[in-house]
Amino acid sequence: MSEIDLFAELAALRERFLRNAASRLEELARALDAVARDASNAAALERFIHVAHNLAGLGGTYGFPRVSEISRTLVNEARAIAGSPPEISTKVRSWREAYAELAEELTTGAAASSSAEPPSAPSAPRTVVLCAMREVPAGLASEVIEVRHVPSLELAKAQLKESLPDVLLADWNRGGNELVQELRGVPGGDDVLALVVGVASGDAMRKVEVLRSGADSFLAECAPDAIVKRLSVLLDQRRAAAPRILSVEDDPDQAELLTTVLSSAGYSVRVCDDPAMFESDLQSFRPDLILMDVDLPGVRGDELASSVRQSDELATLPIVFLTANEQPLTRLRTAKAGGDDFLVKPVSPPLLIATVAARIERSRHLAALFERDGVTGLLTHAVFFDKLHALWNTPERRASDAGVALAIIDLDHFKRVNDTYGHLTGDRVLASFGSLARRRLRSLDVVGRYGGEEFALVVTGVNANEAAALADRLREEFAAVEQHATDGAPFHTTFSAGVAPLNDAYDSVEEWIAAADAALYRAKAHGRNQVATAN
Ligand code: GH3
Ligand code: MG
Ligand code: MG
Ligand code: MG
Repeated sequence: MSEIDLFAELAALRERFLRNAASRLEELARALDAVARDASNAAALERFIHVAHNLAGLGGTYGFPRVSEISRTLVNEARAIAGSPPEISTKVRSWREAYAELAEELTTGAAASSSAEPPSAPSAPRTVVLCAMREVPAGLASEVIEVRHVPSLELAKAQLKESLPDVLLADWNRGGNELVQELRGVPGGDDVLALVVGVASGDAMRKVEVLRSGADSFLAECAPDAIVKRLSVLLDQRRAAAPRILSVEDDPDQAELLTTVLSSAGYSVRVCDDPAMFESDLQSFRPDLILMDVDLPGVRGDELASSVRQSDELATLPIVFLTANEQPLTRLRTAKAGGDDFLVKPVSPPLLIATVAARIERSRHLAALFERDGVTGLLTHAVFFDKLHALWNTPERRASDAGVALAIIDLDHFKRVNDTYGHLTGDRVLASFGSLARRRLRSLDVVGRYGGEEFALVVTGVNANEAAALADRLREEFAAVEQHATDGAPFHTTFSAGVAPLNDAYDSVEEWIAAADAALYRAKAHGRNQVATAN
């Protein structure tokens, strides 16, 4: 979403807040009347506090600081004397005055709203495309895409060393393949989407070369329309991997505001407005962070947070509390419940985004340490299998036109390597395989350490031959790597691989794996240092 769109949306939300304000005021008035009639009516006082509390949170966010101030005072006063009808009776008059002032603020606000400034919002980050082509395809640059044009291979290489783009767009006829290989060798370069144009669909050899170099996708022509379209498909795929935020918030205006601000910053947001749905939202949405309101119907946010912390799997999931309730007791409870941060409504959009971004980045960094094997830097067995199962359970991702293949790779005579050169050197060979695989594989491929000297790899968007060719290229390159014993003596190690393209014949992930294993067995039996495909 561009900055302009975000401003427009925030302005629209403010309009809606004002329209809804009338019914909130009515509700507040009804609760206040009920309290005035009967100071011991605890339910009415609770309703009064609840509505005032919501207004306190929303007022400031939508540019009504005075509304927040008055409502907050109402909440604090009412909470302080709840349970003491005589004190409540003496307060009712001043609460009515405060109510009148609230109504006044909101009505003048409504009148002025068309000329009012929308609340400030940060600009959405743009996707940076490094365009290493003769010219920039027409229509590529937009509000959401920033294009950096590098007309020569040398300039492009230099630029990659300076800063990494989100996407590399390269031309086969201008050294595109070489550039992609260079990209994959730069630290962090394996996360960049690479698209190579100028690869005719009939040219099977060239296609395979491009995929082998580590490109995510290729296109025949340099037609701007086709390029822009393919890029948007690839970026959508990427966006599906955007960090997910579950916002537990019962107030619809507040929820919509949070959604607007966070999606503008590239997050995928789901709102849980009913605590009864919390468990199932957690399961189905698998958030990277929870944004937790404290005052919810029937339960407190810190109670929900404590329940999250009971589960081993979710013990480290970041939880940021966002509430208008600033009382020390609330802070204490949220801290005890394992809250990572505590933001007070109204929170400014930049502060919200900065907080969320910092928490997610930190937890992803930690997760990456746990998910990756220490020797090879590849995914651990458990994480790889989670991803493999997730792929299996997503039918659209294994649709036949995408093409998915599993390869199992086993180093040849590895026991001999250990016996001859020692275990430490053996570990270094494993590490060299990890580093080659990370550099050579495409950013959408998944590669893990399957066992001791066995690895598993999932490639998407390729047919059976292309998958085998990718594995074979990796095999050639690994065989060419000069390994060194501790005394410096050079030697070489090879691997064998079994490739199983996914097809309807497999009824389970296990069958799929068994097919790849059987192919691997054949590659070993036929002399090792080769790739066999499942039949
Ligand atoms: P093949 O070609 O039939 O696969 O022969 P191989 O010797 O590789 O087969 P085998 O599975 O019998 O031996 C695997 C060896 O890999 C045994 C073990 O010593 C070694 N290995 C497994 N994990 C590690 C590790 O983490 N570090 C080192 N250095 N060696 C390992
Ligand atoms: Mg609430
Ligand atoms: Mg083995
Ligand atoms: Mg082996």
